[in-house]
Amino acid sequence: MRISVKAPAKINLTLDVLAKRPDGYHEVEMVMTTVDLADRVDMTLREDGEITLDCSASFVPDDIRNHAYKAATLMKEKFQVRQGVHLYIDKQIPVAAGLAGGSSDAAATLRGLNQLWNLGLTKDELAKIGAEIGSDVPFCVYGGTALATGRGEQIAHLGAPAPCWVILAKPPIGVSTPDVYGNLRVAQIDNHPDTKQMLQAIATQDFSLMCQSLGNVLENVTLSLHPQVRQIKDLMIASGADGVLMSGSGPTVFALVQKEAKVHRIYNALRGFVKDVFVVRMLGAQDGEILA
Ligand code: ATP
Repeated sequence: MRISVKAPAKINLTLDVLAKRPDGYHEVEMVMTTVDLADRVDMTLREDGEITLDCSASFVPDDIRNHAYKAATLMKEKFQVRQGVHLYIDKQIPVAAGLAGGSSDAAATLRGLNQLWNLGLTKDELAKIGAEIGSDVPFCVYGGTALATGRGEQIAHLGAPAPCWVILAKPPIGVSTPDVYGNLRVAQIDNHPDTKQMLQAIATQDFSLMCQSLGNVLENVTLSLHPQVRQIKDLMIASGADGVLMSGSGPTVFALVQKEAKVHRIYNALRGFVKDVFVVRMLGAQDGEILA
């Protein structure tokens, strides 16, 4: 028996850091939404109880360091599952890009194994298990648009934002999330986003208010480490993007655009500059799709 599950990327419409906690994590406030750039995770039942993994991107780890492998191991141990699984990840989301590719693969694995191994768990139960793998995994279990608080694992669902195009551009560098957080001086942050205003923009599907409310306190840290990120932002703005922001800890930058003609202009401007450019839509509605 085999099933395939879609694992969509996310972008941050806001990312605020409120404090550094005694447990080492940062207290965050993030508005996140899934977009239709997705990995596919195929899961094939193994009667011998083994967990194995292959990924189309050979540099992605294929053992317990892989978030999807970790998800399968956790599910097997927690629920004493006799069967195993072979995971195959068809990687479309750039790695170490600020798009939560690994977290989304883990979330897709949790959702898929819930079905493959007949566990009958709710989304809330899967999200709780996901929090043991990584702070972005609970959001990825639900997908859609949400406000994430705590260390990112507490999820409040939101409605779909105003429909628009999203142009993603990733410079050819990988960014380590712990490094970026390590370079952040929380007491010195002077560009906190207006999260309340973003929530209002989403609730009223106000596209220009959404663009005005974009903000990410990690952006300056990554910009100082990688000047190419600034160049991409400037290029998007000069090409007429309505809103521009770095996602997560970067280095992917996204532009929000409502008019299709602008999409072509920005895409063409970027293609001369970076290889990884994707034109996508926000998924808006909740629910990661089980394909077959
Ligand atoms: P986030 O936005 O959640 O910080 P990211 O998009 O910046 O995530 P990922 O693509 O998830 O970053 O990769 C971060 C690291 O995790 C990589 O260095 C990679 O080796 C490791 N990793 C583990 N599992 C996966 C996976 N399934 N896909 C991609 N990377 C993975």
